[in-house]
Amino acid sequence: MTSDPKIVLVTGASSGIGEATARRLAAEGHHVVLAARRKDRLDEIVADLTGAGQSAEGHALDVTDLAAYKALVDDVVARQGRIDALVGNAGVMLLSRLDALLVEEWDRMIDVNVRGLHHGIAAVLPHFRRLGGGHFVTIASIAAHQVSPTAALYAATKHAAWALTEGLRQESDPSIRVTTISPGVVTSELAAHITDPGAAELMTTYRSHQIPADAIARAVGFALAQPPDVDVNEIVVRPTGQR
Ligand code: NDP
Repeated sequence: MTSDPKIVLVTGASSGIGEATARRLAAEGHHVVLAARRKDRLDEIVADLTGAGQSAEGHALDVTDLAAYKALVDDVVARQGRIDALVGNAGVMLLSRLDALLVEEWDRMIDVNVRGLHHGIAAVLPHFRRLGGGHFVTIASIAAHQVSPTAALYAATKHAAWALTEGLRQESDPSIRVTTISPGVVTSELAAHITDPGAAELMTTYRSHQIPADAIARAVGFALAQPPDVDVNEIVVRPTGQR
């Protein structure tokens, strides 16, 4: 049990990094609000956590829907009295070369990875300011720092995620902490949604090195556990061997 239990909203908590983060933060004694579109998956995870005596709740949320995002956060604050942290993790990675012109997939990545993130800021920031502080944790990517073939649009969204989070840090007063975590290759469902055969094939070479999602969950836990005067701004976590 942590000495400082927090109310933490984790988006994209139905699988991969978000699920691992929700499980770890709940085990550390925080109250975790899990959000994603697949409510059945959230219900199973929440049942596991509450069955183990941990504190969690699950809610269907599409992060591209600003009104729904705000309604969820307002409801959490109304019931729990506060919200202490948002882990903006929901994301999609629909890799393809630009000349494949998969414009609908580009739009979807921008909607989830960028709009989903600034919707979170819009939903939570007013509460953080009113309540006297809070912590934004953005799950960006190595692709926030480098571009590789088939990943131009994905990298653009992750560069945007990095910039949004850094901008928030620069504009915020010291009561608001801001952390960007950039994972390398992590075992999850992320690559399963790639439709372009060439990009899917290339992904298999990247996946020769990968680490479990809990490696990123531990980094989230580390950032949240710091005392109020310590703001961990950036963490990059790669599998050993990933270049
Ligand atoms: P997963 O595909 O396992 O998880 C993605 C999560 O995002 C799911 O829970 C999914 O839930 C949710 N999600 C997708 N679209 C939406 C939406 N519109 N609204 C709400 N939730 C949504 O992949 P990861 O765990 O790997 O990905 C998590 C984050 O980590 C992403 O931002 C990804 O870019 C980033 N990342 C991952 C890396 C990796 O190698 N795995 C490397 C670097 C960064 P549902 O479908 O139920 O809505």
